[in-house]
Amino acid sequence: MSNRLMRCYLAVAAAGLAGFLVVPDGGTLQLIWQVGCGWFAAAAIIVGVRRSRPAMAVSWWLFALGVAGNSGGILVEYVLTRTQLSPGFPSWADAAYLSLYPAVAAGMFLLIRRRTAHRDWSSLVDATTLTTGIGLLAWVFMVKPAAADPTIGLLGHIVSVAYPLGDVVLLAMTVRLMLSGSGQNTSFRLVSAALICFLAGDGTWALINQMAWEPGPVAHRVLADIFLAGYLLFGAAAVHQDARSLARTVAPRPARISRPLLLALTFASLIGPGLLIVQATQNRVTDVLSIAVGCAALFLLVVTRMSQLLTQLDVQTEKARELAVTDELTGLPNRRAWNTELPRGIERARRSGAPLTVAVIDIDHFKKFNDAYGHPAGDRLLKESAAAWSSQSREVDHLARYGGEEFVLMLPDATVEQAREIVDRMRLATPLGQSFSAGVAQWDGTETSEELTARADAALYQAKAGGRNRVAVPA
Ligand code: GH3
Ligand code: MG
Ligand code: MG
Repeated sequence: MSNRLMRCYLAVAAAGLAGFLVVPDGGTLQLIWQVGCGWFAAAAIIVGVRRSRPAMAVSWWLFALGVAGNSGGILVEYVLTRTQLSPGFPSWADAAYLSLYPAVAAGMFLLIRRRTAHRDWSSLVDATTLTTGIGLLAWVFMVKPAAADPTIGLLGHIVSVAYPLGDVVLLAMTVRLMLSGSGQNTSFRLVSAALICFLAGDGTWALINQMAWEPGPVAHRVLADIFLAGYLLFGAAAVHQDARSLARTVAPRPARISRPLLLALTFASLIGPGLLIVQATQNRVTDVLSIAVGCAALFLLVVTRMSQLLTQLDVQTEKARELAVTDELTGLPNRRAWNTELPRGIERARRSGAPLTVAVIDIDHFKKFNDAYGHPAGDRLLKESAAAWSSQSREVDHLARYGGEEFVLMLPDATVEQAREIVDRMRLATPLGQSFSAGVAQWDGTETSEELTARADAALYQAKAGGRNRVAVPA
Protein backbone atom coordinates (compact mmCIF):
# COMPACT_ATOMS: atom_id res chain seq x y z
CA MET A 1 0.00 0.00 0.00
CA SER A 2 1.48 3.29 -1.00
CA ASN A 3 2.43 5.87 1.57
CA ARG A 4 0.49 8.48 -0.42
CA LEU A 5 -2.77 6.61 0.04
CA MET A 6 -2.09 6.32 3.79
CA ARG A 7 -1.35 10.04 4.01
CA CYS A 8 -4.53 10.92 2.11
CA TYR A 9 -6.56 8.62 4.34
CA LEU A 10 -5.09 10.11 7.51
CA ALA A 11 -5.76 13.65 6.29
CA VAL A 12 -9.43 12.86 5.57
CA ALA A 13 -9.78 10.94 8.85
CA ALA A 14 -8.27 13.78 10.90
CA ALA A 15 -10.54 16.28 9.14
CA GLY A 16 -13.52 13.98 9.86
CA LEU A 17 -12.71 13.77 13.56
CA ALA A 18 -11.94 17.45 14.02
CA GLY A 19 -14.85 18.57 11.83
CA PHE A 20 -17.36 16.57 13.82
CA LEU A 21 -16.56 18.67 16.88
CA VAL A 22 -17.71 21.85 15.11
CA VAL A 23 -20.66 20.78 12.91
CA PRO A 24 -23.99 22.18 14.16
CA ASP A 25 -25.73 20.12 16.84
CA GLY A 26 -28.66 17.84 16.14
CA GLY A 27 -28.84 18.68 12.43
CA THR A 28 -28.78 16.42 9.40
CA LEU A 29 -25.18 17.41 8.75
CA GLN A 30 -24.12 15.94 12.08
CA LEU A 31 -25.82 12.67 11.19
CA ILE A 32 -24.30 12.59 7.71
CA TRP A 33 -20.93 13.35 9.24
CA GLN A 34 -21.07 10.38 11.63
CA VAL A 35 -22.39 7.89 9.10
CA GLY A 36 -19.95 9.28 6.55
CA CYS A 37 -16.98 8.68 8.86
CA GLY A 38 -18.08 5.08 9.51
CA TRP A 39 -18.75 4.26 5.89
CA PHE A 40 -15.60 6.00 4.75
CA ALA A 41 -13.63 3.80 7.18
CA ALA A 42 -15.47 0.66 6.00
CA ALA A 43 -14.76 1.60 2.37
CA ALA A 44 -11.10 2.16 3.27
CA ILE A 45 -10.94 -1.32 4.79
CA ILE A 46 -12.34 -2.81 1.58
CA VAL A 47 -9.91 -0.81 -0.59
CA GLY A 48 -7.04 -1.82 1.72
CA VAL A 49 -7.93 -5.51 1.52
CA ARG A 50 -8.31 -5.45 -2.25
CA ARG A 51 -4.99 -3.70 -2.75
CA SER A 52 -2.71 -5.44 -0.29
CA ARG A 53 -4.48 -8.84 -0.25
CA PRO A 54 -3.51 -9.63 3.37
CA ALA A 55 -3.64 -13.13 4.78
CA MET A 56 -6.90 -13.79 6.63
CA ALA A 57 -8.73 -11.23 4.44
CA VAL A 58 -12.02 -12.50 5.87
CA SER A 59 -11.15 -10.81 9.20
CA TRP A 60 -10.94 -7.46 7.42
CA TRP A 61 -14.22 -8.04 5.60
CA LEU A 62 -15.83 -8.71 8.97
CA PHE A 63 -14.30 -5.54 10.43
CA ALA A 64 -15.71 -3.55 7.48
CA LEU A 65 -19.11 -5.13 8.01
CA GLY A 66 -19.09 -4.33 11.74
CA VAL A 67 -17.98 -0.72 11.22
CA ALA A 68 -20.48 -0.12 8.39
CA GLY A 69 -23.29 -1.78 10.37
CA ASN A 70 -22.58 0.12 13.58
CA SER A 71 -22.37 3.51 11.90
CA GLY A 72 -25.39 2.59 9.74
CA GLY A 73 -27.32 2.26 13.00
CA ILE A 74 -27.17 6.04 13.36
CA LEU A 75 -28.87 6.40 9.97
CA VAL A 76 -31.49 3.77 10.81
CA GLU A 77 -32.28 5.53 14.06
CA TYR A 78 -32.61 8.85 12.22
CA VAL A 79 -34.93 7.38 9.62
CA LEU A 80 -37.05 5.68 12.28
CA THR A 81 -37.31 8.89 14.29
CA ARG A 82 -38.38 10.77 11.18
CA THR A 83 -40.97 8.23 10.03
CA GLN A 84 -42.35 7.07 13.40
CA LEU A 85 -43.19 9.09 16.42
CA SER A 86 -40.71 7.19 18.48
CA PRO A 87 -38.65 4.22 17.30
CA GLY A 88 -38.98 2.64 20.77
CA PHE A 89 -36.56 0.16 22.24
CA PRO A 90 -35.32 -2.14 20.90
CA SER A 91 -35.51 -1.10 17.27
CA TRP A 92 -33.78 -2.00 14.02
CA ALA A 93 -31.22 0.62 14.91
CA ASP A 94 -30.07 -1.63 17.78
CA ALA A 95 -29.65 -4.53 15.39
CA ALA A 96 -27.37 -2.36 13.29
CA TYR A 97 -25.45 -1.04 16.31
CA LEU A 98 -25.03 -4.54 17.74
CA SER A 99 -23.74 -5.98 14.45
CA LEU A 100 -20.36 -4.51 15.38
CA TYR A 101 -19.83 -7.04 18.17
CA PRO A 102 -20.24 -10.41 16.42
CA ALA A 103 -18.56 -9.15 13.25
CA VAL A 104 -15.51 -7.67 14.95
CA ALA A 105 -15.28 -10.50 17.52
CA ALA A 106 -15.38 -13.15 14.78
CA GLY A 107 -12.78 -11.24 12.74
CA MET A 108 -10.56 -10.91 15.80
CA PHE A 109 -10.99 -14.56 16.69
CA LEU A 110 -9.83 -15.66 13.23
CA LEU A 111 -6.95 -13.20 13.28
CA ILE A 112 -5.74 -14.27 16.71
CA ARG A 113 -6.01 -17.95 15.82
CA ARG A 114 -3.93 -17.35 12.72
CA ARG A 115 -1.30 -15.30 14.56
CA THR A 116 -0.83 -17.85 17.35
CA ALA A 117 -0.22 -21.17 15.67
CA HIS A 118 1.45 -22.41 18.86
CA ARG A 119 -0.54 -23.17 21.98
CA ASP A 120 -0.01 -20.15 24.10
CA TRP A 121 -1.75 -21.20 27.29
CA SER A 122 -0.22 -18.53 29.51
CA SER A 123 -1.53 -15.70 27.30
CA LEU A 124 -4.92 -17.37 27.27
CA VAL A 125 -4.99 -17.59 31.08
CA ASP A 126 -3.84 -13.96 31.45
CA ALA A 127 -6.45 -12.74 28.97
CA THR A 128 -9.16 -14.75 30.74
CA THR A 129 -8.11 -13.35 34.12
CA LEU A 130 -8.30 -9.73 32.93
CA THR A 131 -11.61 -10.36 31.18
CA THR A 132 -13.11 -12.13 34.20
CA GLY A 133 -12.20 -9.23 36.50
CA ILE A 134 -13.59 -6.54 34.21
CA GLY A 135 -16.44 -8.84 33.19
CA LEU A 136 -17.47 -8.94 36.86
CA LEU A 137 -17.63 -5.13 36.87
CA ALA A 138 -19.66 -5.18 33.66
CA TRP A 139 -21.98 -7.80 35.15
CA VAL A 140 -22.68 -5.83 38.31
CA PHE A 141 -22.96 -2.37 36.75
CA MET A 142 -24.23 -3.05 33.24
CA VAL A 143 -25.71 -6.50 32.68
CA LYS A 144 -27.69 -6.86 35.91
CA PRO A 145 -29.30 -3.40 35.83
CA ALA A 146 -30.17 -3.91 32.15
CA ALA A 147 -31.74 -7.27 32.87
CA ALA A 148 -33.67 -5.88 35.82
CA ASP A 149 -35.24 -2.88 34.04
CA PRO A 150 -39.01 -3.50 34.33
CA THR A 151 -39.93 -0.98 31.61
CA ILE A 152 -38.69 -3.09 28.69
CA GLY A 153 -40.03 -6.38 27.37
CA LEU A 154 -38.16 -9.64 26.92
CA LEU A 155 -36.61 -8.53 23.64
CA GLY A 156 -35.65 -5.29 25.31
CA HIS A 157 -33.89 -7.23 28.05
CA ILE A 158 -32.05 -9.39 25.57
CA VAL A 159 -30.90 -6.41 23.54
CA SER A 160 -29.83 -4.31 26.49
CA VAL A 161 -27.87 -7.22 27.93
CA ALA A 162 -26.32 -7.85 24.52
CA TYR A 163 -24.49 -4.50 24.57
CA PRO A 164 -22.41 -5.07 27.73
CA LEU A 165 -21.90 -8.73 26.85
CA GLY A 166 -20.64 -7.65 23.43
CA ASP A 167 -18.25 -5.29 25.17
CA VAL A 168 -16.93 -8.07 27.40
CA VAL A 169 -16.35 -10.33 24.38
CA LEU A 170 -14.63 -7.47 22.55
CA LEU A 171 -12.52 -6.81 25.63
CA ALA A 172 -11.51 -10.47 25.77
CA MET A 173 -10.46 -10.35 22.12
CA THR A 174 -8.57 -7.08 22.61
CA VAL A 175 -6.62 -8.39 25.58
CA ARG A 176 -5.94 -11.68 23.81
CA LEU A 177 -4.68 -9.82 20.73
CA MET A 178 -2.45 -7.57 22.79
CA LEU A 179 -0.97 -10.55 24.64
CA SER A 180 -0.50 -12.63 21.50
CA GLY A 181 3.26 -12.48 21.29
CA SER A 182 5.63 -10.31 19.35
CA GLY A 183 5.08 -8.90 15.86
CA GLN A 184 3.35 -5.76 16.99
CA ASN A 185 3.53 -3.68 13.82
CA THR A 186 1.71 -0.41 13.09
CA SER A 187 -1.40 -2.13 11.76
CA PHE A 188 -1.56 -4.18 14.96
CA ARG A 189 -1.39 -1.03 17.07
CA LEU A 190 -4.07 0.68 15.00
CA VAL A 191 -6.47 -2.29 15.39
CA SER A 192 -5.78 -2.36 19.15
CA ALA A 193 -6.37 1.39 19.37
CA ALA A 194 -9.66 1.05 17.43
CA LEU A 195 -10.88 -1.61 19.85
CA ILE A 196 -9.82 0.44 22.84
CA CYS A 197 -11.81 3.40 21.45
CA PHE A 198 -15.01 1.31 21.24
CA LEU A 199 -14.46 -0.10 24.73
CA ALA A 200 -13.58 3.30 26.19
CA GLY A 201 -16.68 4.83 24.58
CA ASP A 202 -19.01 2.12 25.86
CA GLY A 203 -17.31 2.10 29.28
CA THR A 204 -17.71 5.86 29.62
CA TRP A 205 -21.40 5.61 28.72
CA ALA A 206 -21.86 2.87 31.30
CA LEU A 207 -20.19 5.06 33.91
CA ILE A 208 -22.35 8.07 32.95
CA ASN A 209 -25.51 5.96 33.24
CA GLN A 210 -24.33 4.60 36.58
CA MET A 211 -23.83 8.08 37.94
CA ALA A 212 -27.19 9.18 36.52
CA TRP A 213 -25.48 12.14 34.90
CA GLU A 214 -26.93 13.82 31.83
CA PRO A 215 -23.96 14.86 29.67
CA GLY A 216 -24.18 18.22 27.92
CA PRO A 217 -23.94 18.68 24.15
CA VAL A 218 -20.16 19.09 24.19
CA ALA A 219 -19.65 15.90 26.22
CA HIS A 220 -22.05 14.11 23.87
CA ARG A 221 -20.09 15.24 20.89
CA VAL A 222 -16.71 14.24 22.36
CA LEU A 223 -18.09 10.82 23.27
CA ALA A 224 -19.49 10.30 19.78
CA ASP A 225 -16.12 11.36 18.37
CA ILE A 226 -14.46 8.50 20.30
CA PHE A 227 -16.58 6.03 18.32
CA LEU A 228 -15.75 7.81 15.07
CA ALA A 229 -12.07 7.48 16.02
CA GLY A 230 -12.68 3.73 16.48
CA TYR A 231 -14.11 3.45 12.94
CA LEU A 232 -11.35 5.51 11.39
CA LEU A 233 -8.54 3.67 13.22
CA PHE A 234 -9.85 0.39 11.80
CA GLY A 235 -9.70 1.95 8.35
CA ALA A 236 -6.15 3.19 8.97
CA ALA A 237 -5.08 -0.29 10.09
CA ALA A 238 -6.33 -1.74 6.79
CA VAL A 239 -4.82 0.99 4.61
CA HIS A 240 -1.40 0.77 6.29
CA GLN A 241 1.12 -1.44 4.53
CA ASP A 242 1.59 -3.53 7.69
CA ALA A 243 -1.96 -4.91 7.27
CA ARG A 244 -0.44 -7.47 4.93
CA SER A 245 1.58 -9.09 7.71
CA LEU A 246 -0.89 -8.70 10.58
CA ALA A 247 -2.10 -12.28 10.27
CA ARG A 248 1.43 -13.68 10.13
CA THR A 249 2.20 -16.27 12.81
CA VAL A 250 4.16 -14.61 15.58
CA ALA A 251 6.72 -15.97 18.02
CA PRO A 252 5.12 -16.83 21.37
CA ARG A 253 5.31 -14.23 24.09
CA PRO A 254 7.87 -15.15 26.76
CA ALA A 255 5.99 -16.87 29.57
CA ARG A 256 7.31 -14.46 32.15
CA ILE A 257 4.92 -11.77 33.37
CA SER A 258 5.95 -8.17 32.66
CA ARG A 259 5.39 -5.51 35.32
CA PRO A 260 2.50 -3.75 33.55
CA LEU A 261 0.81 -7.12 33.00
CA LEU A 262 1.34 -8.06 36.65
CA LEU A 263 -0.21 -4.75 37.66
CA ALA A 264 -3.19 -5.35 35.37
CA LEU A 265 -3.64 -8.91 36.70
CA THR A 266 -3.46 -7.64 40.28
CA PHE A 267 -6.07 -4.98 39.50
CA ALA A 268 -8.35 -7.53 37.84
CA SER A 269 -8.01 -9.93 40.77
CA LEU A 270 -8.91 -7.21 43.29
CA ILE A 271 -12.08 -6.11 41.48
CA GLY A 272 -14.24 -8.73 43.24
CA PRO A 273 -13.13 -7.95 46.81
CA GLY A 274 -13.18 -4.23 45.94
CA LEU A 275 -16.80 -4.43 44.81
CA LEU A 276 -17.74 -6.26 47.97
CA ILE A 277 -16.05 -3.65 50.17
CA VAL A 278 -17.81 -0.81 48.33
CA GLN A 279 -21.20 -2.51 48.65
CA ALA A 280 -20.58 -3.40 52.31
CA THR A 281 -19.63 0.16 53.25
CA GLN A 282 -22.84 1.37 51.58
CA ASN A 283 -24.83 -1.30 53.45
CA ARG A 284 -26.14 -2.46 50.09
CA VAL A 285 -24.58 -5.86 49.43
CA THR A 286 -26.58 -7.00 46.42
CA ASP A 287 -24.16 -9.13 44.42
CA VAL A 288 -22.66 -11.63 46.85
CA LEU A 289 -23.23 -14.59 44.55
CA SER A 290 -21.85 -12.93 41.41
CA ILE A 291 -18.83 -11.63 43.30
CA ALA A 292 -18.20 -15.02 44.93
CA VAL A 293 -18.38 -16.80 41.57
CA GLY A 294 -16.16 -14.15 39.96
CA CYS A 295 -13.60 -14.37 42.79
CA ALA A 296 -13.58 -18.18 42.65
CA ALA A 297 -12.92 -18.05 38.89
CA LEU A 298 -10.13 -15.52 39.44
CA PHE A 299 -8.52 -17.61 42.20
CA LEU A 300 -8.57 -20.67 39.95
CA LEU A 301 -7.08 -18.69 37.08
CA VAL A 302 -4.31 -17.28 39.28
CA VAL A 303 -3.52 -20.75 40.63
CA THR A 304 -3.46 -22.13 37.08
CA ARG A 305 -1.03 -19.41 36.05
CA MET A 306 1.07 -20.11 39.14
CA SER A 307 1.28 -23.77 38.30
CA GLN A 308 2.28 -22.89 34.71
CA LEU A 309 5.08 -20.71 36.05
CA LEU A 310 6.21 -23.42 38.48
CA THR A 311 6.33 -26.02 35.71
CA GLN A 312 8.35 -23.59 33.62
CA LEU A 313 10.67 -22.96 36.57
CA ASP A 314 11.22 -26.71 37.00
CA VAL A 315 12.10 -27.11 33.33
CA GLN A 316 14.50 -24.16 33.44
CA THR A 317 16.14 -25.31 36.67
CA GLU A 318 16.72 -28.75 35.19
CA LYS A 319 18.19 -27.16 32.06
CA ALA A 320 20.46 -24.89 34.12
CA ARG A 321 21.59 -27.83 36.26
CA GLU A 322 22.40 -29.81 33.14
CA LEU A 323 24.34 -26.90 31.64
CA ALA A 324 26.33 -26.38 34.86
CA VAL A 325 27.80 -29.89 34.74
CA THR A 326 28.26 -30.25 30.98
CA ASP A 327 31.19 -29.17 28.83
CA GLU A 328 29.76 -27.11 26.01
CA LEU A 329 32.22 -28.16 23.29
CA THR A 330 32.38 -31.91 23.76
CA GLY A 331 29.11 -32.57 25.56
CA LEU A 332 31.05 -34.55 28.19
CA PRO A 333 30.64 -33.96 31.93
CA ASN A 334 32.89 -31.08 32.96
CA ARG A 335 35.33 -30.60 35.83
CA ARG A 336 32.50 -29.59 38.20
CA ALA A 337 30.73 -32.88 37.48
CA TRP A 338 33.99 -34.79 37.92
CA ASN A 339 34.61 -33.17 41.29
CA THR A 340 31.40 -34.68 42.64
CA GLU A 341 31.57 -37.94 40.67
CA LEU A 342 35.06 -39.10 41.79
CA PRO A 343 34.42 -38.84 45.56
CA ARG A 344 31.19 -40.78 44.99
CA GLY A 345 33.10 -43.44 43.04
CA ILE A 346 35.65 -43.69 45.86
CA GLU A 347 32.87 -44.04 48.42
CA ARG A 348 31.27 -46.84 46.39
CA ALA A 349 34.65 -48.61 46.08
CA ARG A 350 35.19 -48.24 49.82
CA ARG A 351 31.87 -49.95 50.55
CA SER A 352 32.08 -52.70 47.93
CA GLY A 353 35.81 -53.35 48.19
CA ALA A 354 36.01 -53.38 44.37
CA PRO A 355 39.01 -51.73 42.70
CA LEU A 356 38.80 -48.20 41.29
CA THR A 357 41.22 -46.66 38.82
CA VAL A 358 41.61 -43.13 37.48
CA ALA A 359 43.30 -41.96 34.28
CA VAL A 360 44.45 -38.46 33.37
CA ILE A 361 44.67 -37.98 29.60
CA ASP A 362 46.44 -35.13 27.76
CA ILE A 363 46.56 -34.74 23.96
CA ASP A 364 50.10 -34.64 22.61
CA HIS A 365 51.40 -31.51 20.92
CA PHE A 366 47.95 -30.03 20.80
CA LYS A 367 49.38 -26.53 20.56
CA LYS A 368 51.20 -27.54 17.39
CA PHE A 369 47.98 -28.99 16.00
CA ASN A 370 46.20 -25.70 16.73
CA ASP A 371 49.01 -23.72 15.17
CA ALA A 372 49.07 -25.90 12.06
CA TYR A 373 45.35 -26.26 11.35
CA GLY A 374 43.74 -23.43 13.29
CA HIS A 375 41.72 -23.19 16.47
CA PRO A 376 38.43 -24.45 14.95
CA ALA A 377 40.21 -27.60 13.75
CA GLY A 378 41.57 -27.98 17.30
CA ASP A 379 38.03 -27.74 18.61
CA ARG A 380 36.92 -30.40 16.16
CA LEU A 381 39.74 -32.68 17.32
CA LEU A 382 38.61 -32.25 20.94
CA LYS A 383 35.01 -33.03 19.99
CA GLU A 384 35.80 -36.04 17.83
CA SER A 385 38.28 -37.37 20.40
CA ALA A 386 35.66 -37.20 23.12
CA ALA A 387 33.25 -39.20 20.96
CA ALA A 388 35.87 -41.75 19.88
CA TRP A 389 37.19 -42.34 23.41
CA SER A 390 33.68 -42.64 24.84
CA SER A 391 32.91 -45.39 22.38
CA GLN A 392 36.10 -47.25 23.42
CA SER A 393 35.49 -47.02 27.16
CA ARG A 394 33.01 -49.17 29.08
CA GLU A 395 29.45 -48.23 29.93
CA VAL A 396 30.35 -47.83 33.63
CA ASP A 397 33.36 -45.60 32.99
CA HIS A 398 33.07 -41.89 33.54
CA LEU A 399 34.90 -39.67 31.05
CA ALA A 400 35.04 -35.92 31.71
CA ARG A 401 36.79 -32.88 30.23
CA TYR A 402 39.06 -31.56 32.94
CA GLY A 403 40.02 -28.41 31.01
CA GLY A 404 41.81 -27.45 27.77
CA GLU A 405 43.03 -30.65 26.10
CA GLU A 406 43.09 -32.59 29.37
CA PHE A 407 40.54 -35.29 30.16
CA VAL A 408 39.95 -37.59 33.13
CA LEU A 409 38.47 -41.05 33.25
CA MET A 410 37.13 -42.95 36.26
CA LEU A 411 37.07 -46.73 35.83
CA PRO A 412 35.08 -48.51 38.55
CA ASP A 413 35.73 -52.25 39.04
CA ALA A 414 39.00 -51.98 37.09
CA THR A 415 42.51 -52.70 38.33
CA VAL A 416 45.36 -50.58 37.03
CA GLU A 417 46.23 -53.29 34.45
CA GLN A 418 42.67 -53.52 33.14
CA ALA A 419 42.44 -49.72 33.05
CA ARG A 420 45.69 -49.45 31.19
CA GLU A 421 44.34 -51.78 28.51
CA ILE A 422 41.18 -49.73 28.10
CA VAL A 423 43.03 -46.42 28.01
CA ASP A 424 45.47 -47.84 25.44
CA ARG A 425 42.51 -48.79 23.27
CA MET A 426 41.25 -45.24 23.57
CA ARG A 427 44.68 -43.83 22.70
CA LEU A 428 44.76 -45.79 19.46
CA ALA A 429 41.28 -44.54 18.60
CA THR A 430 42.32 -40.85 18.80
CA PRO A 431 41.10 -39.28 15.52
CA LEU A 432 42.88 -37.17 12.89
CA GLY A 433 46.15 -39.08 13.34
CA GLN A 434 46.77 -37.57 16.78
CA SER A 435 47.77 -39.24 20.04
CA PHE A 436 47.63 -38.66 23.76
CA SER A 437 49.65 -39.49 26.83
CA ALA A 438 47.97 -40.77 29.97
CA GLY A 439 48.76 -41.52 33.58
CA VAL A 440 46.78 -44.27 35.31
CA ALA A 441 46.54 -44.80 39.08
CA GLN A 442 44.51 -47.26 41.16
CA TRP A 443 42.92 -46.06 44.38
CA ASP A 444 44.99 -47.34 47.29
CA GLY A 445 42.03 -47.66 49.67
CA THR A 446 42.85 -44.66 51.83
CA GLU A 447 43.77 -41.65 49.69
CA THR A 448 41.42 -38.77 48.91
CA SER A 449 40.18 -38.00 45.40
CA GLU A 450 42.72 -35.15 45.10
CA GLU A 451 45.60 -37.42 46.11
CA LEU A 452 44.49 -40.11 43.67
CA THR A 453 44.22 -37.59 40.80
CA ALA A 454 47.63 -36.15 41.70
CA ARG A 455 49.22 -39.63 41.45
CA ALA A 456 47.64 -40.21 38.01
CA ASP A 457 48.84 -36.74 36.98
CA ALA A 458 52.37 -37.58 38.07
CA ALA A 459 52.20 -40.73 35.94
CA LEU A 460 51.03 -38.58 33.01
CA TYR A 461 54.12 -36.43 33.48
CA GLN A 462 56.25 -39.59 33.22
CA ALA A 463 54.43 -40.61 30.01
CA LYS A 464 55.16 -37.19 28.49
CA ALA A 465 58.77 -37.34 29.61
CA GLY A 466 59.09 -40.87 28.25
CA GLY A 467 58.31 -39.69 24.71
CA ARG A 468 54.47 -39.20 24.67
CA ASN A 469 51.84 -41.36 22.92
CA ARG A 470 51.81 -43.84 25.81
CA VAL A 471 50.09 -44.82 29.07
CA ALA A 472 52.12 -44.80 32.27
CA VAL A 473 51.42 -46.08 35.79
CA PRO A 474 53.04 -44.68 38.96
CA ALA A 475 56.43 -46.16 39.61
P1 GH3 B 1 52.02 -31.55 25.26
O1 GH3 B 1 52.24 -32.65 24.29
O2 GH3 B 1 53.19 -31.33 26.15
O3 GH3 B 1 50.77 -31.74 26.03
O4 GH3 B 1 51.88 -30.23 24.39
P2 GH3 B 1 50.56 -29.46 24.09
O5 GH3 B 1 50.85 -28.55 22.97
O6 GH3 B 1 49.47 -30.39 23.90
O7 GH3 B 1 50.34 -28.72 25.46
P3 GH3 B 1 50.20 -27.22 25.87
O8 GH3 B 1 49.71 -27.21 27.28
O9 GH3 B 1 51.50 -26.51 25.59
O10 GH3 B 1 49.16 -26.60 24.91
C1 GH3 B 1 47.80 -26.86 25.04
C2 GH3 B 1 47.08 -26.01 24.03
O11 GH3 B 1 45.69 -26.32 24.02
C3 GH3 B 1 47.17 -24.55 24.30
C4 GH3 B 1 45.80 -24.02 24.13
O12 GH3 B 1 45.74 -22.94 23.23
C5 GH3 B 1 45.05 -25.19 23.54
N1 GH3 B 1 43.66 -25.26 23.97
C6 GH3 B 1 43.16 -25.26 25.22
N2 GH3 B 1 41.83 -25.33 25.19
C7 GH3 B 1 41.47 -25.36 23.89
C8 GH3 B 1 40.20 -25.44 23.22
O13 GH3 B 1 39.14 -25.48 23.82
N3 GH3 B 1 40.22 -25.44 21.87
C9 GH3 B 1 41.36 -25.37 21.14
N4 GH3 B 1 41.31 -25.40 19.83
N5 GH3 B 1 42.55 -25.29 21.75
C10 GH3 B 1 42.62 -25.28 23.10
MG1 MG C 1 47.95 -29.87 28.64
MG1 MG D 1 48.84 -31.58 25.56
